[in-house]
Amino acid sequence: MRVYKIDHIGVAVTSIAEALPLYQALGLAETHREEVPSQGARTSFLPAGESSIELLEPITPDSPVGKFLAKRGPGIHHLCFGVNDIDAALADLAARGYRLVHRQAVAGAGGKRVAFLHPEAGGGVLIELAEKGRP
Ligand code: ZN
Repeated sequence: MRVYKIDHIGVAVTSIAEALPLYQALGLAETHREEVPSQGARTSFLPAGESSIELLEPITPDSPVGKFLAKRGPGIHHLCFGVNDIDAALADLAARGYRLVHRQAVAGAGGKRVAFLHPEAGGGVLIELAEKGRP
């Protein structure tokens, strides 16, 4: 497996509209916003150098991000590593015995192929993998 960068850091927010001004004050600009059905969330991407901040707003309270907010409140939700070959990465992690939320890549924001490891596998850190591709 080859991780070539931290693709983005996901931040759970109750409202993208309310969270955005702080990041804009830090000099970041939103370049992409969409609903991602596989995550039950609306996402807003703000590039920061070679990585991005992904603001995640739940579409429904029972979505994964909605449950995260109810349990922990707003804050860092996940860390996403960019990989060249997500199929090979998932097969390698499964062979090493790591628990995966997605054994196959699903469609993430921007049409990227993504997958999440189970939080248990990340020692409390929710880890996402995103295959190199369209931003
Ligand atoms: Zn993400």
